[in-house]
Amino acid sequence: MPDGTHSYEVGVVGAGYVGLTSAACLAHLGHRVTCVDVDGEKVARLRRADVPIEEPGLPALVGEGLGRGVLRFSTEFADLAGTDAVLLCVPTPTGDDGGADLRAFDRALGALARTPRTGVVVVKSTVPVGTTARTQRELGRPAVSNPEFLREGHAVHDFLHPDRIVVGGTDPAAAELVARLYAGLDAPVLRTAPASAELAKYASNAFLALKVSYVNVLAELCERYGADIGEVTGTMGRDDRIGGAFLAPGPGWGGSCLPKDTRALLRAADDAGVDFAVLDGAVAANAHQRERVVTKVREAVTGSPHGSLRGARVGLLGLTFKAGTDDVRESPAVAVAHRLAAAGAHLTGYDPGASGPVDGVQLVDDPVLVAKDAACIVLLTEWPQFRELDWPQLAGLAEQATVVDCRNLLDPAALAEAGFGYRGLGRS
Ligand code: NAD
Repeated sequence: MPDGTHSYEVGVVGAGYVGLTSAACLAHLGHRVTCVDVDGEKVARLRRADVPIEEPGLPALVGEGLGRGVLRFSTEFADLAGTDAVLLCVPTPTGDDGGADLRAFDRALGALARTPRTGVVVVKSTVPVGTTARTQRELGRPAVSNPEFLREGHAVHDFLHPDRIVVGGTDPAAAELVARLYAGLDAPVLRTAPASAELAKYASNAFLALKVSYVNVLAELCERYGADIGEVTGTMGRDDRIGGAFLAPGPGWGGSCLPKDTRALLRAADDAGVDFAVLDGAVAANAHQRERVVTKVREAVTGSPHGSLRGARVGLLGLTFKAGTDDVRESPAVAVAHRLAAAGAHLTGYDPGASGPVDGVQLVDDPVLVAKDAACIVLLTEWPQFRELDWPQLAGLAEQATVVDCRNLLDPAALAEAGFGYRGLGRS
């Protein structure tokens, strides 16, 4: 262990993006970690160091932990007995009322209640305000809110180099122990009330959603007034009060966190009788953005924003919600695909990382094939390798050569040279 740090027995519940990354990184930091998941097949794979998700550096860390005997995987909560702290990293998807569905979380609490000697309960899942306090009451053990801010595709890097570590607890000894789990990291530890930690997580994700919706509407304005969104956001981003990140227009925000966390925050605001119209507006702008992409495709294919897409062949480049991940949960690319399919388009799609099939899209394993007889190619995810495609070859295969670039990833001049018409977002 590095100087001044202590090695703990740590339990992790849930071996997904957050749980598996936390387990592997905490083992790497010198703790002894037991990671429990209800998915027996996943646990069996992980015991063989076969990592089921796409995250740079994660297979190496899992292999390292297993090899050193400091990381183990189990389906049994009983294996968490004797741990100093247990991190809850189970899913909290959207429930029927728009708020977080805590059924998996509550099942984990129930199992933990029956497991002796499990120390501090660390709530890492994104949960509604009050959940950590309830956890402490129900289990009769100290609970600490310790929300996770990692980004998929950068999970290991973000866990080991966080901007901040938030520790929200009412029991000083428990909060201290949680802070010490991360003693090997160079990051500020923010001690807060549990409610503040829980709300800060939702507030951060909803703010990012707000920022993207704002830029997407700006991109529409740019098109109307002949301005260029890159020049506008390039100017805005230089202002420290605004910051340059999350200022790129696209097909709308999505993924496994932003939509569900925004819905949960709106639910919480509604329950509290607080008007959060600015966030309602961001959600509405996001739905509008997807329609805007479909309208661009209609225009490209038929020459009219109201033309019919029935029978039109459309090629899709990218299906994951962003580049660098295999995750298609609530992907805006998939949402656009479903709208195009509902309008009668025949879709062919390619994605270098997507983890599974997408309804209504015929997947191909070579990006060039999406161009075959296509009336339009829609670039939906910002995989950098799409820039390097042999665009003249694609133009030769397409029936009618227009690219709708929803990420402003491509060089319009190079596409024109290849023989393609080009429509970006907010580019005049
Ligand atoms: P995930 O779906 O990738 O993984 C969750 C894992 O938990 C699965 O392997 C599942 O089998 C397991 N599981 C479900 N119920 C269980 C139970 N009762 N006991 C044991 N295991 C159980 O989820 P994720 O993306 O890692 O998200 C987990 C939490 O972290 C969510 O609250 C999410 O909002 C939050 N979060 C996610 C991210 C992200 O980028 N994915 C970032 C920050 C926070």
